[in-house]
Amino acid sequence: MKRLLIDIPALIEAGGSVENIECGYFYHRKNSGHFALIEIAEFAVYCRECKDAFCETACPKEALEHTDSGMMKRYNMRCVGCKSCVLACPFGTIFPESMSYITSKCDFCLTDLAKDSRFKPLCMKTAPEGTIDIVEMSEEDPEKGIYFYGDNLAIISHHWRRKEGKA
Ligand code: SF4
Ligand code: SF4
Repeated sequence: MKRLLIDIPALIEAGGSVENIECGYFYHRKNSGHFALIEIAEFAVYCRECKDAFCETACPKEALEHTDSGMMKRYNMRCVGCKSCVLACPFGTIFPESMSYITSKCDFCLTDLAKDSRFKPLCMKTAPEGTIDIVEMSEEDPEKGIYFYGDNLAIISHHWRRKEGKA
């Protein structure tokens, strides 16, 4: 299965040039859907998914909630950017620089990929080299720090995982 692979450490290292990543979608060429994906990826691999989540308690706008899978989700239409969650998280897993306040969604260019398997999305072409890729991958590879989220996203990063039986 084709997946969009995002290398978070490499993107962080690339710094400001991340702003220049473009999107093929006509209506948000600059504010591309990858920002929403990076936030999802960070919640997927870094967040401890606290049952009594400090971030959720600290949020004055009820903008943070657990999804059914236990993962945290920020509802950006409720979020006012106060960053209380950033301060409240004892593990430092919320990164204000990847919070987007404009709704944009990445569809992984699935339609274009279905037409042409060699299709390269604009984000991949305009991202710092090696940070965003389209890969054929069916299994996670923890030794290389590769983890999946959903059907179409693969993330390169270290991953915090709860040990079985721990609260
Ligand atoms: S930044 Fe947004 S999500 Fe975080 S505490 Fe403030 S309103 Fe809630
Ligand atoms: S963001 Fe921080 S406080 Fe919120 S659930 Fe994740 S680890 Fe816990």
